[in-house]
Amino acid sequence: MTADDFPPDCRATLTINLGAVITNYKHCGKLASTAECAAVVKANAYGMGSEQVARTLFNQAGCRSFFVANLTEAITLRRVVPTAVIYVLNGIFPAHTDYFIHHNIRPVLNDPGQIKLWSELDQTGTRPCAVHFDTGINRLGLSSEETRSFVTDTALRKKLNIALIMSHLACADDAANPMNSQQLNKFTAIRQHFPDVAASLANSGGILLGPDYHFDLVRPGLMIFGGNPHRGKEAENIDPVCRISGRILQLRQLESGQTVGYGVSWTADRPCHIAIINIGYADGYPQLFNNCGRVYINGRMLPVIGRVSMDMIAVDVSELNPDEINVRTGVELLGEHITLEMASEVSTLSQYEILTGVRERYQRIYQ
Ligand SMILES: *Cc1c(COP(=O)(O)O)cnc(C)c1O
Repeated sequence: MTADDFPPDCRATLTINLGAVITNYKHCGKLASTAECAAVVKANAYGMGSEQVARTLFNQAGCRSFFVANLTEAITLRRVVPTAVIYVLNGIFPAHTDYFIHHNIRPVLNDPGQIKLWSELDQTGTRPCAVHFDTGINRLGLSSEETRSFVTDTALRKKLNIALIMSHLACADDAANPMNSQQLNKFTAIRQHFPDVAASLANSGGILLGPDYHFDLVRPGLMIFGGNPHRGKEAENIDPVCRISGRILQLRQLESGQTVGYGVSWTADRPCHIAIINIGYADGYPQLFNNCGRVYINGRMLPVIGRVSMDMIAVDVSELNPDEINVRTGVELLGEHITLEMASEVSTLSQYEILTGVRERYQRIYQ
């Protein structure tokens, strides 16, 4: 035994199914037909590990373009996929320019200042970049006014090698929202000014809105990681990527009237059996699951009772035959049975927050 040798099974586990990452990516690609399918791997690939995910997507799924939020994420990713195209969504700032050039990373230019910065840096107009147009989300990108002046500024445009024009949908997860077609129309109008440039509008939800939204490149994140942007629909071909499982630390028998956990927020209304599980909010299982989370043990969906503690939760296991569980029995908190969609519904957390909320304490296993 060495100092770096840890006993097995003493932590809860986060199992990341890289096979499902490949399947889901390919499914996105199929839905997007002729458009190139990029991968959004910001925030450590939605918590799943950008290194492992990007390497897998590049080597085993043919993904050639990646989007991250910031330059640090991009530089980290560059070591993993030396020849891929990498875009930084947050844009470029004066102190960052050398890094973009040195690592061959493409900025997404979000405002006239960034466009000016990149055009002056690259007088020859050879270094590729993306230009982001806001079409209604009012987050990043050129405003309508800035767009009008940019599209007709041929002198400025000549100084840029625009490899991609893009915009981002505000309501892609809600197919019935009229905002989608409004943004589509605005983006289509902008695109007329760039007939030879690749265009990109769709995130995961946008891919499901249909071919009108696909243009030349799609930018899925959530769907690659097993999320379903259109809740309740079209989820059949998306496989869960993230499995969180814990173990029973202790079993207890409660009498009617006894309470569970901090703040005594749950009271037994009958004699019952409860199990204490080794996952808490320090693992990224937040208190939004207090008294409403669900876990899966031996074929049953069972309720989280009381408040989530830092290191554990309590589950009512009265429904199970006491003989079929014991201390150490495995418990699924997220995975095939407790889907992201379901966990999101009971907690009101978004699927994105559940994924990106996973913490370091889990033992990570890549499959
Ligand atoms: C995060 C992000 C995406 C990916 O969105 P998903 O809903 O996870 O598919 C795409 N484009 C932009 C601009 C983003 O910020």
